[in-house]
Amino acid sequence: MTAEGPLVLIVEDEAPLRKFLRASLVSHGYRLIEADTSNAAMQLLTTHAPELVILDLGLPDRDGIELTREIRGFSDVPIIVVSARGKEEDKVLALDAGADDYLTKPFGVQELLARLRVALRHAERARGEPATQSFDAGTIHIDFARREVTVDGHDVHLTPTEYKLLVLLAKNAGKVLTHRQILKDVWGPAYVSHPHYVRVHMAELRKKVEADPARPRWIVTEPGVGYRFRDRDPG
Ligand code: CA
Repeated sequence: MTAEGPLVLIVEDEAPLRKFLRASLVSHGYRLIEADTSNAAMQLLTTHAPELVILDLGLPDRDGIELTREIRGFSDVPIIVVSARGKEEDKVLALDAGADDYLTKPFGVQELLARLRVALRHAERARGEPATQSFDAGTIHIDFARREVTVDGHDVHLTPTEYKLLVLLAKNAGKVLTHRQILKDVWGPAYVSHPHYVRVHMAELRKKVEADPARPRWIVTEPGVGYRFRDRDPG
């Protein structure tokens, strides 16, 4: 199993943390390549084409956010940022630069492994698999062809904006989306500075698809950053 596991590039300048990641990931079947600078990472990206990148933001030669933008210039490889910078602005910056997800140090191995699985699943779905006809998350069912949404088997009437919002969340299930990304996709690039649009319509959408909109089970808020649609029932 070890030989065929997904190839992960770890970009991290702290040797103890690299060691921790190595121990955690290799025991779960991942194969690793490691870089301690942005330049070394760029080189490995072009020579080894890893399937996922775990990226520290504070690197000695170039900032991880800058590196994320550079990678996005030529590759859709999933990027999971791990950083000691826990501020909301930093998360938003990294996600808007093209990172797929963000973990604040210190984080647990199980959390990291879960995020890796989500990112890899998502990349696999985006890569040439035929577009799925429907989406299910617990009680919520979306039929893309008919543009129909049911919750617990009952038809739910969504406005066109609410439907677009739900489809965007569902297609990115498991990943965090920033306010900016949501505005750009649902309303268009001219609306990226109107985060209240998202809040208002998200509240309406939750009333229609969540059993308890005050304690959402599926559309969860990432405070100060955006929203994440759970891709499995939290139980
Ligand atoms: Ca660092």
